[in-house]
Amino acid sequence: MSEPRPSGPRPRVLSGIRPTGAGFQLGNYLGAVRHWAAMQDEADCFFFLADLHALTDVPDPAHLRARTRESAAELLAMGVDPARSTVFAQSHIREHAELGWILGCLTGFGEASRMTQFKDKGGSSSSGASVGLFTYPVLQAADILMYQAASVPIGEDQRQHLELTRDLAQRFNARYGDTFAVPGPYVGKDGARIKDLQDPTRKMSKSIGGNGTLWVLDAPEVLTKKIKSAVTDTGREVRVDIAEKAGVSNLLTILSVVTERPLDALEADFAGKGYGDLKGAVAEAVVAEFAPVRKRYAELVADPAELDRLLAVGAGRAREVAVATMAAVRERVGLLAPQP
Ligand code: ATP
Ligand code: MG
Repeated sequence: MSEPRPSGPRPRVLSGIRPTGAGFQLGNYLGAVRHWAAMQDEADCFFFLADLHALTDVPDPAHLRARTRESAAELLAMGVDPARSTVFAQSHIREHAELGWILGCLTGFGEASRMTQFKDKGGSSSSGASVGLFTYPVLQAADILMYQAASVPIGEDQRQHLELTRDLAQRFNARYGDTFAVPGPYVGKDGARIKDLQDPTRKMSKSIGGNGTLWVLDAPEVLTKKIKSAVTDTGREVRVDIAEKAGVSNLLTILSVVTERPLDALEADFAGKGYGDLKGAVAEAVVAEFAPVRKRYAELVADPAELDRLLAVGAGRAREVAVATMAAVRERVGLLAPQP
């Protein structure tokens, strides 16, 4: 049997992003993709466009297809490098769905019911939510375990799903013999959750969008306008206080992560200044951060054939690992090998 585990000195890292919404938002960049771009030399990175996960929203087919290609361009524009990392579309590797089924058979109904993201996304047994939305954390476990990843850079919102993934890997290994690497948790040092500018009690999400969402590809004047209209509070003091000053705290968090300046230093900078000054500084920092991304995106998206070619190369590399993992899994769970 071929050995699916990675060899060599670089640990394998895997992460994905859904090609949903109108594009990627600031939280995707600060909570995830920026870290992806930074770790490509030290890790053997697999980054995928989670188009099967996007289907839980039942998107318009033409929009999903276009967004998947555009998402590849956005990732590359944000610094993901297909020469160093394996970048692919999830649905191009059919083994994901197959492993998702097998892991689903090892997942307790109660265990799946405890996933808070399902509830965050409006899911409940009476809300008309799909079985796909309910079980997507299991497919996510399959995505991760397929590639024997050592760690998974994710935002804080995905921590619970990673715990489920670890549990499933351990359960499978205990029942069928050592098959999967158990991934370590990874939340980047800036793993803070970026909040919606209009409703700072909930996280910024690309599938929700609206004026509280900063798109990576927003024009500078649009970014500035949205930041200047961010919800604050009736006070005056620029300081972190999640309970009383959710909006101001979020703006300070954004500024801190983008400028890599600690929160207490920022509080000192803004002593005696007002919310207008804070918003001006946030706008300037975000606009400067995204300007090169916008420019590079325009170049990349102008050549869809090249994007498709890059995704095919990535799928080729990913498939090698996925096929080896699934050969082991199929044999261990007792599926009769198909005749060639
Ligand atoms: P959707 O609304 O479609 O779920 P999303 O914005 O939540 O979109 P995902 O594709 O679910 O994005 O997640 C991609 C990555 O971005 C994940 O690692 C996730 O943890 C991270 N992420 C998403 N939103 C935020 C946020 N507001 N702050 C920090 N990280 C985030
Ligand atoms: Mg999400």
